[in-house]
Amino acid sequence: MTTLESTPARDFIRTKVSEDLAANKNDGRVVTRFPPEPNGYLHIGHAKSICLNFGIARENPGGVCHLRFDDTNPAKEDVEYVDSIQEDVHWLGFDWGEHRYYASDYFPKLYDYAEQLIKAGKAYVCDLSADQAREYRGTLTEPGKESPYRNRSIDENLDLFRRMRAGEFADGSRVLRAKIDMSSPNIIMRDPTLYRIKRSSHHRTGDTWCIYPMYDFAHCLSDSIEGITHSICTLEFEINRPLYDWILDQLPVNSHAQQIEFARLNLSYTIMSKRKLLKLVEQGFVTGWNDPRMPTISGFRRRGFTPESIRNFCERIGVAKRDSMVDLALLEHTIREDLNERAPRVMAVLRPLKVVIENYPDGQSEDLEAQNHPANPEMGSRKVPFSRVIYIEQEDFMENPPKGFHRLAPGREVRLRYAYFIKCHAVVKDEISGEILELKCTYDPATRGGSAPDGRKVKATIHWVSAAHAISAEVRLYDRLFTVENPEGDKEKEFTAFLNPQSLETLTDCRLEPSLATARPEAHCQFERMGYFCVDLIDTRADRPVFNRTVTLRDTWAKIQGKN
Ligand code: ATP
Ligand code: MG
Repeated sequence: MTTLESTPARDFIRTKVSEDLAANKNDGRVVTRFPPEPNGYLHIGHAKSICLNFGIARENPGGVCHLRFDDTNPAKEDVEYVDSIQEDVHWLGFDWGEHRYYASDYFPKLYDYAEQLIKAGKAYVCDLSADQAREYRGTLTEPGKESPYRNRSIDENLDLFRRMRAGEFADGSRVLRAKIDMSSPNIIMRDPTLYRIKRSSHHRTGDTWCIYPMYDFAHCLSDSIEGITHSICTLEFEINRPLYDWILDQLPVNSHAQQIEFARLNLSYTIMSKRKLLKLVEQGFVTGWNDPRMPTISGFRRRGFTPESIRNFCERIGVAKRDSMVDLALLEHTIREDLNERAPRVMAVLRPLKVVIENYPDGQSEDLEAQNHPANPEMGSRKVPFSRVIYIEQEDFMENPPKGFHRLAPGREVRLRYAYFIKCHAVVKDEISGEILELKCTYDPATRGGSAPDGRKVKATIHWVSAAHAISAEVRLYDRLFTVENPEGDKEKEFTAFLNPQSLETLTDCRLEPSLATARPEAHCQFERMGYFCVDLIDTRADRPVFNRTVTLRDTWAKIQGKN
């Protein structure tokens, strides 16, 4: 049996949690939360936070992780996002049980806390315009100036705040501010705004409120209301921590979590700002939040990533205190590794070239035995039909092969995977365009199963499908969405300037072996020699499957880059 003591902590946050448990802090409870704002779909960066928060809860006896919608900014939020977030967290393999909360449910409590701060002389209503407030705030090198409204009486503040709530004042005309220290070296502490007036319908509270709490006020108090013990967030909130603690210290709260910051995930060739991802969706650069090129969880899912591969990736990158950039190739490597194990092998011809096997009887066909996973006999085998007319991949034939090309060419013999040796005798071309229309070949019946009794060898094995039996499909070849490692790194150009024009190639005339006729949406497979693919969840129809390329077999990207 493993005890807590004997389990080595994997990172500084888990170390801290274990220490707190050992000291019986928080009465031995571990309560974390994942607090997305429902203003977009979850992305791979969120996956890191989900694995961390739900992971820590799962690893500790009695641990709990809350899903809290941080819905304090009505203008950008939507139920579509709430639904997608829940679906994605579940798909990743985590569950909040009964612990689903909305910060908006706390609006009445938060309002009461604000009045308590006013009554304690710790908050005031300020009438400075946004521009004036900015001017008064000072800079990193200069202290701020106190607002002329800072010394209003408690009664006046209470009256004004209540009237703010009652809708007596225009949007933006007044705010509630904490009374802390305008000369603090930490700008966050210079009388931060706690409430603002905003007439905007909220997706849950409708028009009940015309004042909304700011993030810094709502977040610490939501943590406290829920009894969170470890409030884990990304590094940029380190400077907000004094405010987190200040607010909780002023109020008679029962629970005060420890805020712990970690480095957010940055991934090469990827953007993660929800605002920018929304722009890609709204301006039609992608088909939606779940476009298989998007770094969203639903995009990766549709692309064919598995929850296990994303969890493994998060495990591998670990949790640190310093910002860094993770290579997208590592994520691709992780899914390749996972699919290598689990994806059955099948044959699919993406760019068909017709081959007529002239010595194979017309109208005849036979079933050949093919293994579903050559390295794993437990995955069994299947039958693949063979007949006189087959398709092979265009790139597997060259009329004038250069040195080093070992696949099919005039006069040359190759092996058809799981079938026979065939030899090419003639090339039929379009008289005008010169396009190759079909190849005339013969097969050697003695090589059934792929080897010759006389011991002669061939240098290549290629995949194929029987023309009469194949099903046709659309195949979408995806590549990286951006052409540069850091699409946000250019000061002159917008990130959209670095979109990869070749991020999607759609092939509409693909031929697949008939076993794929029954493949269900989201099923994974390896098209032998071509990559890992999955059945598209959205666009697949019973009579017309659509396959998405999840990842190539090897990293072709590095090679292309190397040539430039
Ligand atoms: P944006 O700035 O694009 O709006 P956000 O970080 O504000 O994104 P939230 O919905 O507030 O998005 O994030 C929910 C949780 O996910 C937060 O706790 C946040 O720290 C975490 N998170 C967001 N992005 C990343 C990332 N790239 N790596 C790790 N954690 C992240
Ligand atoms: Mg946020």
